[in-house]
Amino acid sequence: MNKILYISSEAFPLIKTGGLGDVAGSLPVALCKQSQDVRLLLPAYPEVLHNIAKSKIIATGAYYNLSARILETRLPGSNVIVWLVDCPAAFNRPGGPYTDHHGQPRHDNALRFAIFCHAAVDIALGRLALDWQPDVAHCNDWQSGLVPALLSLHAKRPSTIFTIHNLAYQGIFDRRTFIDLHLPEELWHIDGLEFYDQFSFIKGGLAYADKITTVSPRYAEEILRPEYGDGLDGLLNSRQQDLSGIMNGIDERQWNPGTDQHLKQKYNRRSLAKKSLNKSDLQQYFSLPVDDSIVMIGMISRLVEQKGLDIILESLATLVTYPVQLMILGTGETHYEIELSEWAQRYPEQFKVTIGYNESLAHKIEAGSDIYLMPSTFEPCGLNQLYSLCYGTLPVVTPVGGLADSVTDASEENIKNQTANGFILKERSAVALLAAIQHALALYQQPKIWRQLQVNAMSGDFSWKVSAERYIALYQQTLDERA
Ligand code: ADP
Repeated sequence: MNKILYISSEAFPLIKTGGLGDVAGSLPVALCKQSQDVRLLLPAYPEVLHNIAKSKIIATGAYYNLSARILETRLPGSNVIVWLVDCPAAFNRPGGPYTDHHGQPRHDNALRFAIFCHAAVDIALGRLALDWQPDVAHCNDWQSGLVPALLSLHAKRPSTIFTIHNLAYQGIFDRRTFIDLHLPEELWHIDGLEFYDQFSFIKGGLAYADKITTVSPRYAEEILRPEYGDGLDGLLNSRQQDLSGIMNGIDERQWNPGTDQHLKQKYNRRSLAKKSLNKSDLQQYFSLPVDDSIVMIGMISRLVEQKGLDIILESLATLVTYPVQLMILGTGETHYEIELSEWAQRYPEQFKVTIGYNESLAHKIEAGSDIYLMPSTFEPCGLNQLYSLCYGTLPVVTPVGGLADSVTDASEENIKNQTANGFILKERSAVALLAAIQHALALYQQPKIWRQLQVNAMSGDFSWKVSAERYIALYQQTLDERA
């Protein structure tokens, strides 16, 4: 049994903005099930404090003259012990974890997450007299990037793993910020935290962690190339020996059509006919014509360029001439929110857009749709295509990252050998997107084949079990290598 400090800036159901929240809310549970001794470290945002039943203070300290406490609680619905970095001046504010009320990054994010990282380092080095010290500090994304860097300055330290959930978010600040945070000057160099004269949080993880992982095997290969490397492909190539991809699993307590409390009608692959009741429920909910012969296309997403909104918008004029209903739930860049809402106003009989974050509606869309749209430019893993597969909702995706690792195209051959579970765009363009949707519409007219595709999709194993085993093997490998 190893002691793992799992460091994340979000974790469902306490706080979530995207895939990282889902992973941090479920991987630690899977690790505990496999006898790992885990502490999940999170900032104590107001939403987190609101969502916990009770907590106790287990340590106190101060960072940058701001007082802080470590609170202990449990991850709701599990036995995972959660430690919260409760520094009210940094974290107890209205708005999102990273952005203010207007959706703008908070002006002091560098300070906020430096505090979080210092607290993690203090725990990792046993400085807070907590009677528990990790063997492995598992860091996630830029918000915990300083942890491997700061720990590297100590000979007696836990092993460090850094998981990239999205390389596009790097936590870049100016040199002045680095100085103001009083970070050790020895970390400021081209192979350290410096990134073209700027200060990079994520490089702390990429340059200093003992092992680096991505959330799908394909993404681990892609980021070695300039198109996907976001300026860090050189560094990643130099760390290739220590880089690997471990596919995300999904939390089957949350995402399982057989037990999903959000659904009008639960179903599984043996009672697939019942799925259509969720479709009619969704059609009624959105005042759309209730008709099972109309193909319903769903999408739940951050509305940002990465998710393929450009080619979706380009396709809409043609898409609304198809016998389809389209349902998009998301928040993100204002221009996408406005453009999509305008289209929805123009075609109220076919197209519905809900701007906002709505966990329950997300489940209803996954279950009620026939097809799920995910034509991302890049996708480190992607969870929604995995949820779609589990719900027998066939994903239409680009062949990148975790999408390529989880979706098998409905080509004639793949249909024949019963591996097909979705539709893959030939290239990333509106034309290819429309062609893939047309292909799906044609197969929808052949119920036997469609049913087989759904069964193939629902037969996949996307549980955390295997992936958690891979993380545990990696923890052990790092520990052995450092011993
Ligand atoms: P990313 O992390 O890039 O946003 P993922 O597909 O890995 O993308 O994970 C996104 C997660 O966030 C999924 O669980 C998805 O259902 C959820 N999500 C995204 N936007 C919304 C929204 N507007 N309402 C509810 N859930 C959302």
